[in-house]
Amino acid sequence: MNADWALEGHVHRGCGGRYARRTENITIKVSGMAATVERSLYRCDACGDDQYTVEQREDAEQKAIDSIRSYYELLTPKEIRRFRESTQLTPEQFGHLLWGTPRGVVEGWEKGRYLQNQQADQLIRSLMDPDELKRRAAKAGVVLPPPPEQIAMSSLEEPVPATEP
Ligand SMILES: [Zn+2]
Repeated sequence: MNADWALEGHVHRGCGGRYARRTENITIKVSGMAATVERSLYRCDACGDDQYTVEQREDAEQKAIDSIRSYYELLTPKEIRRFRESTQLTPEQFGHLLWGTPRGVVEGWEKGRYLQNQQADQLIRSLMDPDELKRRAAKAGVVLPPPPEQIAMSSLEEPVPATEP
């Protein structure tokens, strides 16, 4: 199914005009930040009525999110998810460390459905410092599971007794 063609050439009932695909530049606000993107729409050639398909709306919103993310150099959904998984915290626990951000919002960031603002982005980045992560976890009452690589490292770092030949 190609929803993009849903309205192409369709007659506008009531006025008799026909819808044709156009593009316009619009400013979309996301999480208090804004981007101007190109959005496609269908405009009636007789009365100028505008119609947008769900796909056109979502496409413009996604473009705005991508544009804002790259402009402010915000973490990508994948980066947030990878980092959160590296801490072995659930989205809910992770949210506790971020001023009590609800689980659904954390999951939304990881799926790209929501865009974290700069403040949240900096907070997530600050947790990438292991000491800050421990400090905030203690403050939020979240028990951090030991990272597997740390277990491997500590066993490697066990002092080997030096033996003289
Ligand atoms: Zn019309």
